[in-house]
Amino acid sequence: MGSSRRQITEPARQVDVVHETDVLVVGSGPGGLSAALAAARAGVEVTLVERFGCFGGNITAVGVEGMAWYRHEGTIEANGIGRELEERAKAMGAAVPESQSLSYELDSEGFKLVADRLVEEAGIHPMLHRLFVAPIIDGDRITGIVTESKAGREAILARRVIDATGDADVAHRAGAPTAKTPREQMMAASVMFHLAGVDKRAFMEGVRADPQTYRDWAGGGEWNIETTGKEDEMFSPFIRKPFQQAIEAGLIPPHLTTIAGTWGAVHDTGELTYMNLVHMDGCDGTDPDDLCRFEIEGRRQAMLALDALRRFMPGCEGARLRNFGMTIGIRDTRKIDAVYNMTEHDVREQGRFEDSIGIYPEFIDGYGILVLPTTGRYFQLPYRNLLPHRVGNLLVAGRATGGDRVSHAATRNMSCCAVTGQGAGVAAAVSLRSNRELDRLDVGAVQRELDRQGVRIR
Ligand SMILES: Cc1cc2nc3c(=O)[nH]c(=O)nc-3n(C[C@H](O)[C@H](O)[C@H](O)COP(=O)(O)OP(=O)(O)OC[C@H]3O[C@@H](n4cnc5c(N)ncnc54)[C@H](O)[C@@H]3O)c2cc1C
Repeated sequence: MGSSRRQITEPARQVDVVHETDVLVVGSGPGGLSAALAAARAGVEVTLVERFGCFGGNITAVGVEGMAWYRHEGTIEANGIGRELEERAKAMGAAVPESQSLSYELDSEGFKLVADRLVEEAGIHPMLHRLFVAPIIDGDRITGIVTESKAGREAILARRVIDATGDADVAHRAGAPTAKTPREQMMAASVMFHLAGVDKRAFMEGVRADPQTYRDWAGGGEWNIETTGKEDEMFSPFIRKPFQQAIEAGLIPPHLTTIAGTWGAVHDTGELTYMNLVHMDGCDGTDPDDLCRFEIEGRRQAMLALDALRRFMPGCEGARLRNFGMTIGIRDTRKIDAVYNMTEHDVREQGRFEDSIGIYPEFIDGYGILVLPTTGRYFQLPYRNLLPHRVGNLLVAGRATGGDRVSHAATRNMSCCAVTGQGAGVAAAVSLRSNRELDRLDVGAVQRELDRQGVRIR
């Protein structure tokens, strides 16, 4: 690494094997949760390892509640587990209608229970509170992982491993090639928060009196975007004006023009949730020093945003902080160099692949681009996109799958992570059942099982 830091040598040690499984999924966000459910439903034994105390990844740990805010009349999507997560949340009282689309907004707290129930019903072996720290390697294959927890170091052995950590932690440590966006070009990091004490009626009257559109996103930082034009007049739950007023009033320092963004849902009980208002550049989510600094800075900025809302947003006069997300929200870190890497052309021009494991609507959100799937256009995701180089027995699902910047702005979305997750879970199960290596799979068998599970692949 060329580090000039002082170093120590860790002594070698014996580690207990605490568990063995067919398919081991590391990370339980939309990618990992879908992978675990899909593999279990395809008939193999599955274990789900997660560093925090709940499943759900960004949904529950960060507070990202907008699972399908892109959905409009003409949208065509994969359905499968992504849709099921939304439907199940709705059925369990953990979702409300979303303001800008034909979708439901998840309740990040209630979704913890939804995920528990789904994991339990599928017979998945849950292993919360364990952080993956090292792969177990045999030749060029991964055969398990080492975790750290309150119990110290432990080993878990597995016949197939799915890396759904979002950051490609497993693939990277196992020696698969990965790439990271340069820090100064990374998508912004956000500390998410939720409010209580909002007067819903007054808030909605304020929104209706001055409706915002996607065109209003233009003009600063993360929200300075290019659309295809058709998005410009559509309603967006966007807020910037109160923060501009707060800067003029000296409440927010003038350089913090990055404070702006979207609100998620306003509840009858006075909660205003999924406040996506703090955007901080230059945070590398794989660097704990950055994570430390930006968590603290993000909370500070969130409180500035709350002060501005109290002063300048109708209905928010009596608002108070309900909670922050359990951890800072990271959008962009490592991605694997996959056997097939998705391209800007694939996501903008309806890419088609023989080995498709699911479709995704033409929804691009990030790096200054917003395209909404209002026209029925969609692209396919190939199985090869989940396959890393150099490390056998391993698949990658979720936001760390291979691809260029603009393709990431599509594939990072939670319901797309559910598509790659379901594909990875089914592929791992099919590979075990057919006794074939992951890079020698009969993709037709994977597609048949995905079809049986309700995924649209063509
Ligand atoms: C602030 C913010 C707003 C966003 N808004 C939207 C939106 O509105 N709509 C949308 O579709 N997408 C949105 N996104 C993007 C989306 O949330 C992510 O890209 C998506 O959640 C990635 O899914 P994933 O399963 O790959 O990873 P994650 O959701 O990040 O899940 C990864 C899981 O792995 C666990 N993990 C990580 N490392 C380890 C380890 N070493 N050991 C054990 N466990 C580990 C984590 O704790 C986590 O539970 C947003 C992202 C952010 C940060």
